Amino acid sequence: MKVRVLGCSGGIGAGLRTSALLLDEDVLIDAGTGVGDLALDAMRRIDHVFVTHAHLDHVCSLPLLADSVGPQRQAPLTVHAIAPVIAALRAHVFNDNIWPDFARLPRPEAPYLRWRVIVPGETVTLGARRITALAVEHGVPAVGYWLDSGAASLVFTGDTGPNDALWDQVNAIANLRYLLIETAFCERDKAIAVAASHLCPSLLAEELGKLRVPAEIFITHLKPGDRALTLAEVAAALGADRARALEDGQLIEF
Ligand SMILES: [Zn+2]
Ligand SMILES: [Zn+2]
Repeated sequence: MKVRVLGCSGGIGAGLRTSALLLDEDVLIDAGTGVGDLALDAMRRIDHVFVTHAHLDHVCSLPLLADSVGPQRQAPLTVHAIAPVIAALRAHVFNDNIWPDFARLPRPEAPYLRWRVIVPGETVTLGARRITALAVEHGVPAVGYWLDSGAASLVFTGDTGPNDALWDQVNAIANLRYLLIETAFCERDKAIAVAASHLCPSLLAEELGKLRVPAEIFITHLKPGDRALTLAEVAAALGADRARALEDGQLIEF
């Protein structure tokens, strides 16, 4: 399995892209602004999108992706998400007002996308690859994803606040190699992190205290204006070598 980080920032700006991971050539985990860097050919090869939650930084490229490649694809793009996320995207984005309902268009029998409901704990198998939704706590319905190549696993938390249930799931992954976990806010904004169900460095340290299996840890979703500060606080809270920032463009193979 190859995971290419198309975007992992908590915001936009030159060189910064929001949440999107390209798994091999045909699967996206989230569809933030990072998707827009792909060539049209590469976008056309994407058959599946697994959405963590409906917040805009995680889905904003989905409507444009469906529209850009739909006419050139033979089959609809399959969008996997928990039911409330699909309901939100249908009601508020693909509603023929903000964007066309491409689950019906251009023709109901040959739409550009189709929705597939998943439930936390469910595994979708694509060839040898296993993709499992993990329940997280984010104030809105949300999941993370566990990607298992057979040889090793990567867990991407997506957006989450403190969540004991997540660690029960992660600690049960025998072949865990990588953990991509958010730290959206710096310590100054801990109250906002708590209110918005995100993490800050001290909350990250508390969460990682619940991790019982070894893993290489990468930090995602850093706010652009506080990136350096937050990373310094992460190093202070965890120790200098425990975690490092995930970078846009990074390639992880496992
Ligand atoms: Zn979010
Ligand atoms: Zn987010």
